[in-house]
Amino acid sequence: CGIVGYIGKRDVAPLLLEGLARLEYRGYDSAGMVITSPKGTGLKMVKAKGRVRDLEARVPKRFAGTTGIAHTRWATHGAPSDHNAHPHMDPENKVAVVHNGIVDNASELRAKLEADGVVFASETDTEVLTHLIARSQAESLEEKVREALKVVEGTYGIAVMHADFSDRVVVARNGSPVVLGVGEKEMFVASDVAALVAHTRQVVTLNDGEMATLKADDFRTYTTTGTRTTATPETVEWEA
Ligand code: GLU
Repeated sequence: CGIVGYIGKRDVAPLLLEGLARLEYRGYDSAGMVITSPKGTGLKMVKAKGRVRDLEARVPKRFAGTTGIAHTRWATHGAPSDHNAHPHMDPENKVAVVHNGIVDNASELRAKLEADGVVFASETDTEVLTHLIARSQAESLEEKVREALKVVEGTYGIAVMHADFSDRVVVARNGSPVVLGVGEKEMFVASDVAALVAHTRQVVTLNDGEMATLKADDFRTYTTTGTRTTATPETVEWEA
């Protein structure tokens, strides 16, 4: 339902919670986030069924990080619950995915992965993306995501983090909005500009079939087949 992400220098958990709160008006049944720090301390996750304030109540005292992705879920596959809340991670805690939309061929992909020995942690359609990315042999995170998206049918706005590529967040869009917010040595991403405008008015709206790599001090966009695209930030008008 709602996606918020950030990479920069600020303490990320409060930023993500604030962004999620700005998306609450859209409705949702659960929320969650994954964060990391540039020191490569691994990915830390917290999720909760219920409201953003229920998630906030669960955030540990020491939950420091400067990169993160967060989600408010409106369940389509699997009941609203803690474990069905996004992000979804692989068993090695390397990959974290938040997803808006529906993976139409999820049950077929899940059956194939399970036949291969993959153990699922949720009932969501989204989790197939996590395992596909985690199992990809491709070298770059961008290429891993691209390989996963090749076999996925349906709609998505996704944001992906990987413990081995902690300098970036990779996002992709097909039928579910993804907007980048360009700041001063910081980058935001959201499914809705409402989550960004408190921080920046410089936005890039991804097209269907487009991906982006966000780093703290720059971003680039390209198609899901790997061709670079040009994206010039536009100034969004917003009544505070
Ligand atoms: N289909 C996914 C799920 O049920 C994502 C739903 C959403 O867009 O929030 O978990």
